[in-house]
Formats: sequence, C-alpha cells, structure tokens
Amino acid sequence: MSRQEDTNRQEQLMDERRERVVRNEALFRAVNEELEALNDTFGTQTHTFQIVCECGLGDCVEQLTIPTADYTRVRSDPTRFFVLPGHQDATSEAVVEQEREKYVVVQKHAGGPAELATDRWS
Ligand SMILES: [Zn+2]
Repeated sequence: MSRQEDTNRQEQLMDERRERVVRNEALFRAVNEELEALNDTFGTQTHTFQIVCECGLGDCVEQLTIPTADYTRVRSDPTRFFVLPGHQDATSEAVVEQEREKYVVVQKHAGGPAELATDRWS
C-alpha cells in the first residue's frame, strides 16, 4: 500500500467513525425519547430523568441521571446530547456544559444558525 493510499484509507476510517458516532447518538436519542414518555409518569416524583449515555461508543450502556429542568432545556436543542464525562468525541462534538462529575452536554460541530444560537455557551 502506498503512502497516499494509506492516507486515504485513514481519512475514510475517520469519516466512517464520525458517521457511526452521529448515527449512534441519534439512535440513543430515540431510545431516550421513549424513556422520556415513561419518565413522565415517575419524573414528577423524583424531578430527574434516567437516560442512556448518548456517546458514540457502540458498547456504552451507562446510565445518566439528569434533573428534569436540565433535560428539557438541553433537549430543546437538537444538536446537543448528554454523555458521561470523558465519553465525548472531540472530532465531532464540543463540550458546552459540565455538571460536576455526573454528565457533560456536548454539541455537534455544525455550521450556521446552530452555532450562532449557542455562542453564549462558549
Ligand atoms: Zn457513553
């Protein structure tokens, strides 16, 4: 394999990884939105949501406990996700909020209005 082919292969792998991360996170979001419906029943008693870590690691099944108010606020932005501290992927997202040791909020790298609207966090 030539050096050039090697570089192309690496770039391809990076693209595949990025795509997989985005897909996984969208999938976890769908799962969590299902859980949200369940949490609606119990959340009023505890004021927290129990959700699955939304990182791009395929085998991660960690659970996060998110205060209801934070969950609703972050969820209103479709480019933001909850992950465990250290589970963020710097190639596709940036940490925009840190809540002690419990969770971080990441935002997908994206151009346009999504970034402008969230400048206040950076
Ligand atoms: Zn995770």
